[in-house]
Amino acid sequence: MSGRVKRERESRPSPRSSASGRVKREPAGSRGSSRGKREAEPERVRVKREPEDGPPRAKREREAEEESEPEPTVRYGRFDPEDRRSRHCPYLDTINRSVLDFDFEKLCSISLSHINVYACLVCGKYFQGRGLKSHAYIHSVQFSHHVFLNLHTLKFYCLPDNYEIIDSSLEDITYVLKPTFTKQQIANLDKQAKLSRAYDGTTYLPGIVGLNNIKANDYANAVLQALSNVPPLRNYFLEEENYKNIKRPPGDIMFLLVQRFGELMRKLWNPRNFKAHVSPHEMLQAVVLCSKKTFQITKQGDGVDFLSWFLNALHSALGGTKKKKKTIVTDVFQGSMRIFTKKLPHPDLPAEEKEQLLQNDEYQETMVESTFMYLTLDLPTAPLYKDEKEQLIIPQVPLFNILAKFNGITEKEYKTYKENFLKRFQLTKLPPYLIFCIKRFTKNNFFVEKNPTIVNFPITNVDLREYLSEEVQAVHKNTTYDLIANIVHDGKPTEGSYRIHVLHHVRDRRGGVQCLLAAWGLEQHAKHPSPC
Ligand SMILES: [Zn+2]
Repeated sequence: MSGRVKRERESRPSPRSSASGRVKREPAGSRGSSRGKREAEPERVRVKREPEDGPPRAKREREAEEESEPEPTVRYGRFDPEDRRSRHCPYLDTINRSVLDFDFEKLCSISLSHINVYACLVCGKYFQGRGLKSHAYIHSVQFSHHVFLNLHTLKFYCLPDNYEIIDSSLEDITYVLKPTFTKQQIANLDKQAKLSRAYDGTTYLPGIVGLNNIKANDYANAVLQALSNVPPLRNYFLEEENYKNIKRPPGDIMFLLVQRFGELMRKLWNPRNFKAHVSPHEMLQAVVLCSKKTFQITKQGDGVDFLSWFLNALHSALGGTKKKKKTIVTDVFQGSMRIFTKKLPHPDLPAEEKEQLLQNDEYQETMVESTFMYLTLDLPTAPLYKDEKEQLIIPQVPLFNILAKFNGITEKEYKTYKENFLKRFQLTKLPPYLIFCIKRFTKNNFFVEKNPTIVNFPITNVDLREYLSEEVQAVHKNTTYDLIANIVHDGKPTEGSYRIHVLHHVRDRRGGVQCLLAAWGLEQHAKHPSPC
């Protein structure tokens, strides 16, 4: 636990380091003492964060903290000459919005505690408490930084004087910390093409902003970004009301995924952000925790594995079950298919014996109906042709060739360690948004191999009608899809990186069902309807 905290603190990027740069400019006298303290403190607190320090103690601590928070008076931001009694806060000009970054874990930079954390709005650092001996209080005295924001209550305070500041000019700061969306704003998201301006002057399109690659988390970023561009899923998570009251069993950590994903959605779509990018730090911390470190920030993962885990984890955290209980995740992505399976006799058996076995019940075709969240498309084995210049020729295949897997006729052989099966698939229900995963990586005993075959696909009107049985065709009205996002893997299997193209809905809006085609592979279309 402590190791994790430490590593992540080290990987924390610029705003903090620029903040500590400020610290260094302070007079030498005060610096000496504060530094000594800073190095000694984490040891003590790391002990505090050990598992045996369970909820009761944390609760006691919190109560103690809250009690020790002194009752503040209130002052308003601007001096009101009409009201002789009003006293204004003279420090609002010292707020430095360019160092404010609320994407990181809300914990005190000294004590590492999550309780009563305040952001210093002058240097951007987080400190615990407001009371006389608290870290925020000491910071305010030592560095003459006076304006603080409680990251939980969203209230502003002036320290060490300890009064609450109420001023509408600070509302932009609370909005960056906690963006909110009205139903009307959500309904208009895909109709407006208005560029937003960040604090440093760069312009960005809400929803189409970069996600920081903290270390090696581009595999997760690409998936999260793709999901954030699926309108019904996005709209659900933009409104906290939709999932706020879902009941979870006590001690459940999985709901953290839901909360963090919602926060990330709102940050990605924030039209009034101070910067034109978002760090998925808190989201990924939840992923590391909830996946029990299967997926990490510091180690490249497999995009398809992550997508599959994330959708299932999100579905169950929202209270969904395997069969009956639906959630926004299954409403958007779940389809169904029939799987026909036929057992094959061992290939080494004499022909006569095979014939006989095929008469047995065990070798007759069976059918099960199964749901899916995405369709796995297999690539033909890539032949390694070389042209006259001895360059490898990369084969190409049309999307519809590899989709033939689902036409109900194509049979594919599957091998287990002792038995062989023939399977064929037929789609019975198409989801509103369809995910394709092109299977490019095969793991054998020694290494992971990447199939470089280029898949050519149209970006609009991909019709899946022919993969549905006749009776299903009769009830399924809309069977065509348009591309809204495409994830690409560049480079070698183990050291490559992920990129994504997303459709800007305003620029290229079409009727009908839209889809999410997540294609893992080489870039097929140089010209994508994507501004990024
Ligand atoms: Zn400060």
